[in-house]
This record gives sequence, C-alpha cells and structure tokens, in this order.
Amino acid sequence: MSVSGNLLQFKSQLPDHVTLIAVSKTHPSQAVLEAYSSGHRDFGENRVQELVPKHEELPKDIRWHLIGHLQTNKVKYVAPFVHMIHSVDSEKLLAEISKQALKCNRMIPVLLQIFIAQEETKFGFSSEELRSTADKYISGSFPGVEIHGFMGMATNTDNEQQVRREFRTLRAMYSEYSAQIPTMNTLSMGMSSDWKIAIEEGSTMIRIGTAIFGHR
Ligand SMILES: *Cc1c(COP(=O)(O)O)cnc(C)c1O
Repeated sequence: MSVSGNLLQFKSQLPDHVTLIAVSKTHPSQAVLEAYSSGHRDFGENRVQELVPKHEELPKDIRWHLIGHLQTNKVKYVAPFVHMIHSVDSEKLLAEISKQALKCNRMIPVLLQIFIAQEETKFGFSSEELRSTADKYISGSFPGVEIHGFMGMATNTDNEQQVRREFRTLRAMYSEYSAQIPTMNTLSMGMSSDWKIAIEEGSTMIRIGTAIFGHR
C-alpha cells in the first residue's frame, strides 16, 4: 500500500486519545510530503543532521518530534523549531535544552526518556536519577522546558509478557509523577512491533516508522 494508505489505515485503528507520530527517519522528504498531503502533521526523526534539512525543505506547519539520542552540543540547531523532544535522557541535556529555549524566547515541550528495557543499549533515566531531576524541575530549575511526560522503549523481544511488563512499569511511574507535575499529559510508548500492547497499557502517543513508510 502507499504511505498515505498505510497512514489512513493505521489512524482508523487508533483510539481518539492516542496521537500518532509518523517516524520518517531515513526516508526521503518526498515520503514525508506524501503523508503530509493526507493531512498528517506529526513526524518523528532521530538524528539532528537529518531533522534540520527536512525542516528547512518541508512545509512549516509540520510538528517535528525528535525521538533519538541528542548530544548537548546539537541542541542549539533544533531549539528554534522543534515541537517536542522525546529523548531527554539526562539532567545535563535537560539543562541545555532549557538554556537554548530561553535564548530562542520559547518554551520547549519535552519528555523524559525512562530506561525500562533489559538491554544495555537503550538510553534513559533510572528511577533514582528521575526522582532527583523531577524534584529540581518542580522547584523551578529548567525554566525553558515544560515536562509533558515520559517516553520509553521496551526490550526488542518476541516475549509479549516481558514487553507488557516493561510498559506497565513505565505507566505506573507516569501515574505517580503526573500527580506531582501538572504539565504532564503524554506517555510516549509503542513502535511498529509493540504499539497494540503499548496502547493496552496506557500509551497516549505511539511512534511508528516501518508500518507506515516500509522497511529502512
Ligand atoms: C525508529 C524509531 C521508532 C520507530 O520504529 P519502527 O519500528 O520503525 O516503528 C520509534 N521510536 C524511536 C525512538 C525510534 O528510533
């Protein structure tokens, strides 16, 4: 099926409270435009080097979500326009985003990436780091950012029970912290292989690449 066909088919299956981020990484701007022409506006990219040129080239009402690991020295390139950063995985990065946002006279919506997988390679806050950073945010550090919620990636495994368990853990942390942080309203979890489980476990935002754009 076509990109716009996949997208419409996908959207028709989603509950109203779930936002779909179309992950266009490695796919050309033409593919983004095809999705755009069917009315879609939320797109995700994982690399700054790819996001910046796409933003320059493509319609300005696209809402760009940065979903991949971000180095502090690259924050300045996306700060003027990024709609939301899902992959804030350290306090140092949060502080830099806040600083660059203030320079641009804006507030940047962010999600804290939480480590939930049984894999060495996934980035994210541990529960101890999260407590300490959240307390600083609550007391007014980081005035340039607004924490909208959490993002997490489950282990890449066929074991559904494990994936479900990891999403459930994240959902519980999300509930606990959203009681303390009034700006929180977003739980970003679920990709092409596990989005159904993620929604069952309380996701409000899914990030889908392969199932829309095809294999990379
Ligand atoms: C690539 C990527 C996705 C989308 O993955 P698919 O399996 O292609 O749907 C989602 N989230 C992050 C953080 C990614 O890097």
